[in-house]
Amino acid sequence: MLSDYINPMEEYEKIINSLKRKTYFMSKILECMKEGVVILNSEGCIEGVNKAFYEITGLSYEKLIRNKLENIDLKWEGLPTFKEVWEIVNNQGLWVGEVVGIHPNGYMYTCDAILSKVMADGETIGYIFVVQDITEKRSLESNLRSLSYYDLLTGLPNRALLYNHLAQMLYNAKIKNEKVAVLFIDIDNFKIVNESMGHELGDRLLKLFAERLASSVNNDSMVARFGSDEFVMVKGGLKDIDSIKLIAESIIERISQPFFVENKKLYITVTIGISVFPIDGVDPDILLKNADMAMHHAKEIGRNTYQFYTSELNIRVSERFYIEGKLREAIVKNELYLHYQPQFSLEDDKLVGFEALLRWYNPESGLLLPGKFITVAEESDLIESLGEWVIRQACSHGKILEDMGYRLRIAVNISSNQLSSPDFDKKVEYILTETGFSPDLLEFEITESTLIKNKKEAMRVLNRLKSMGITIAVDDFGTSYSSLNYLKYFPVDKLKIDRSFIGDIISDPNDVAITTTIIAIAHNLGLKATAEGVETEEQLTFLKLWQCDEAQGYFFSPPLPFKDVVERLKNNLLPVKDE
Ligand code: C2E
Ligand code: CA
Ligand code: CA
Repeated sequence: MLSDYINPMEEYEKIINSLKRKTYFMSKILECMKEGVVILNSEGCIEGVNKAFYEITGLSYEKLIRNKLENIDLKWEGLPTFKEVWEIVNNQGLWVGEVVGIHPNGYMYTCDAILSKVMADGETIGYIFVVQDITEKRSLESNLRSLSYYDLLTGLPNRALLYNHLAQMLYNAKIKNEKVAVLFIDIDNFKIVNESMGHELGDRLLKLFAERLASSVNNDSMVARFGSDEFVMVKGGLKDIDSIKLIAESIIERISQPFFVENKKLYITVTIGISVFPIDGVDPDILLKNADMAMHHAKEIGRNTYQFYTSELNIRVSERFYIEGKLREAIVKNELYLHYQPQFSLEDDKLVGFEALLRWYNPESGLLLPGKFITVAEESDLIESLGEWVIRQACSHGKILEDMGYRLRIAVNISSNQLSSPDFDKKVEYILTETGFSPDLLEFEITESTLIKNKKEAMRVLNRLKSMGITIAVDDFGTSYSSLNYLKYFPVDKLKIDRSFIGDIISDPNDVAITTTIIAIAHNLGLKATAEGVETEEQLTFLKLWQCDEAQGYFFSPPLPFKDVVERLKNNLLPVKDE
């Protein structure tokens, strides 16, 4: 009987002891774990933290207990915001990620982290957060990676990484329509240095050399060690080839400064071969091979120099630099002037105005036509000052004619960069006031591509110019692919039929179709049509038949110096249209 008797006190103690044992057991497990564990209540407040978590993060009990995770300055990267983490946990039950933190002792640690929801009877009773330190694993991996991708002596990327990186750069450059330069840099006579001074010193010199090369690279470039004394620099984000020349020159300059190795002052020189994507190749192999060939070519010419793979590029670069330098001086030295090509109304063959065409007389090169230098000016910053000079000069001449009693229009060619330069409209306004030329006699010739390239800004500026009274002609109309739609939006007055269509107008049915269509488009839109490059009577007859409004060309007159214009007007050799 007695054995059946249950003492409630004893039972209670048993349960308590068993629970105590379990809790003790659980807390021991937590203490022994290598993973850091944080237990949070259903509100997300921290109720317990194990030893490993303190050790991994270096955070103290006071900072953690009863706090919320999001209020602790964890200095963690790689985490979305805690708000997002909580959202994921509450929706999906679990968030998993990798975080990088900074231990108060200053070192960085990397952890795999898991935050999960703990449920009982369909209700959230708390959360558990576990982090596992994977710093060593990651650093081992990155060491392995560096061993296979970096050169041991110099610490520079090796050939394998160079190929990877270059392939990526070419891919980006293709999308952005940019150029990439590959500079193959070889130290001159390094064998002699090595043999005379010993390999150890040679190695040290190589290290210093590599440091100097690498110090000049930025986001868009990279330097790699390609072979023993061969290095490769790749440079992306290039719009033109002129800057490549400057890079090569600056490398040669830097390397020519002495190196100090063991109290010895050493001088070395380099020879550089350059290939350019996409001109000299479109894949890393070809570009590197061609840069290497260019380097060997440069060695033949003489060391301590550079060569482009394409000889055409060598010539173009030096010619362009020469022209740019000379052009800068040309404005100051008064070597520029304008010629004026008369434009006639086809209704009555009377003079209505002139197109101003730029000429440059350089004492060394003689007379230069715009085809030789306008693009150089456009690709440097010169076009703005040059273009401004042209407008001012044309307006001054126009004003002289006005004062002589002739109301003749002067058309000035405007480049894309000019139109998009800040305050272009204000500058024009200023020039008009300054010279006193009537705005309604000034015409701007702007190419189709310029209009389309700067659509929004062009529209604003053109409307402004138009409101001043200036007329707008679309130059070289029909030569670039475009939808005609834009004509509706731009305030243009005239279409100029390019001389390439007029040349064969008598024999080529395509040119006939194009020319007659342009005239029809112009008239349908209420615009005028002007033909340029009219050289023969037949061409003129044809244009008159199709009711083209105006024309210019050698048949009437070549572009003339201003004094000849004045002379001819005075002698009635240019019959002027009555107003
Ligand atoms: P463009 O606007 O198409 O100018 C017409 C070109 O055709 C001029 O060449 C002119 O001399 C030439 N030409 C005139 N009549 C005939 C002809 O009957 N037959 C042939 N075959 N050619 C003729 P130019 O002066 O060498 O100018 C070339 C281009 O340079 C111009 O083409 C224009 O785009 C640009 N340009 C000229 N002056 C300036 C300027 O001041 N500023 C800017 N931005 N560009 C200019
Ligand atoms: Ca023109
Ligand atoms: Ca033209």
